[in-house]
Amino acid sequence: MSKEGESPEFDVDLFVIGGGSGGIRAARVAAGHGARVMLAEESRLGGTCVIRGCVPKKLFVYASRFADALDEAANFGWKISLPRFDWPSLVAAKDREIARLEGLYAQGQSEAGVEVVHSRAMLEDAHTVRLADGRSLRADIILIATGAKPELPPFEGIELGITSDAAFDLKEFPRRLVIGGAGYIAMEFAGLFDALGSDVTVVCRGSNVLRGFDEDMRQAITASYTNRGIKVLLGDSIKRLASGKVGGGGQRPAAIDVVTEQGARLTADQVLLAFGRTPNTIGLGLERAGVKTDEKGAIIVDASSRTSVPNIFAVGDVSNQFKLTPVAIREGHAFADSVFGDKPWRVDYANVPTSVFSSPEIGTVGLTELEARAGYAVVDVYKARVRPLAAGVTGNCETALLKLVVDGESDRILGTHLFAEDASEMIQALSIALASGATRAGFMSTMAVHPTFSEELLAMQ
Ligand code: FAD
Ligand code: NDP
Repeated sequence: MSKEGESPEFDVDLFVIGGGSGGIRAARVAAGHGARVMLAEESRLGGTCVIRGCVPKKLFVYASRFADALDEAANFGWKISLPRFDWPSLVAAKDREIARLEGLYAQGQSEAGVEVVHSRAMLEDAHTVRLADGRSLRADIILIATGAKPELPPFEGIELGITSDAAFDLKEFPRRLVIGGAGYIAMEFAGLFDALGSDVTVVCRGSNVLRGFDEDMRQAITASYTNRGIKVLLGDSIKRLASGKVGGGGQRPAAIDVVTEQGARLTADQVLLAFGRTPNTIGLGLERAGVKTDEKGAIIVDASSRTSVPNIFAVGDVSNQFKLTPVAIREGHAFADSVFGDKPWRVDYANVPTSVFSSPEIGTVGLTELEARAGYAVVDVYKARVRPLAAGVTGNCETALLKLVVDGESDRILGTHLFAEDASEMIQALSIALASGATRAGFMSTMAVHPTFSEELLAMQ
């Protein structure tokens, strides 16, 4: 039951709008604390992460990694005859897994006692939610967890492009793929489609990809991608798209002509638009309830996820915080414990680890070298390039790059950045070390596991 004013005039204690990472967690935990909870989801339960984000992306990444593994297997004695990749089989396998997960989420909500309605919902006022069928429900507390959708900058022919949503369900595998943008989605999809057999071009408006990541990681991934044959056009952006020739005697869809600001002309079967994501706040009725947004349309929240209206909260991508699943989940959990469980706590946004699921991956936690130099008087940087042991047999010349950014005065580790196979798994463990105040001396005194390349983290001079 709500601690914020128990009132019989309300149909529910909590109404959650959006059944993605943040909304699902909040609803389940609040119901566990005894609240009467209703959740509205206009699409599929699970939200972006499960249905059209992290999960299908990672399944595609797994699929893509067999390409290198199969290439290298012969060096380890395997005799494999002519492997062939079948795109429809991958899409079908992904669909089955997502349907299974969606079912588990529905079951979890039902077992927790959450009433799920499959409908769009919007605010009528600070305590009233209207559903698409015209029904209105009164709620003591409202949580907005509507996520975000792809940002589409205006340029000629943009309707010919696709976003990551559609990329997961393409009927035909794109032999030629042009990607606009050079953030997480662009770099992950570039890597996986290249490995599956596409000819990939990334068009990046900045001086390098993955703005905000450590410079050495940005350089390492661009060099690695270029080495693999992915074309990365730096300092350029898509100017217009136009419908090109129809292929295969009219059997194949038209190719797309891509013209860039710098005058490059490319032909693509698909153009993936990966220009960031914009919060899902339009048409939600926020102005009727008095909920304030920032210049990007994100809901402004305080450290407890509370909006400008005291009984309305917002978590996840729709708010003005990080756009990552674990952050949305933790915000949803903290909200539910704090408002319904009499256990107030806040999300700690320091040292949020993150990974780009490229191959090799980038794993990062804490400050980049540039950020550290801006905030600390003495910064020591340790770097190691490591050739994985298997490379001696496979001849693969890809090296891992490990980097530690250290406060030279206190010896505390401020940031760790990895470009390496399984960097996402390593960075999770390293984030615990950072959160626990690890020092370089502590790293140096830790016993290594051999042979690994992460043992270099303990020995970098
Ligand atoms: P969402 O998961 O987007 O859920 C919002 C839900 O609200 C949706 O289901 C939507 O249908 C519903 N909704 C919207 N409006 C209404 C309405 N008016 N009424 C009813 N329902 C509504 N993050 C990571 O941490 N790791 C990754 O590897 C990763 N990979 C990603 C890959 C891709 C391709 C994308 C697009 C994102 C990825 N993310 C990743 C980001 C992650 O998916 C999001 O940060 C996370 O899903 C945000 O959760 P959320 O609850 O805020 O929103
Ligand atoms: P990002 O913010 O990561 O990247 C957006 C890219 O588009 C940047 O390169 C940006 O350039 C560029 N861009 C933006 N506007 C324009 C424009 N008008 N013209 C040309 N280029 C433009 O967004 P994504 O779409 O890749 O991903 C959305 C979010 O989803 C991520 O920020 C992340 O939070 C989450 N995500 C997380 C993943 C993970 O954890 N592994 C994976 C996928 C998504 P510039 O840098 O110059 O602004």
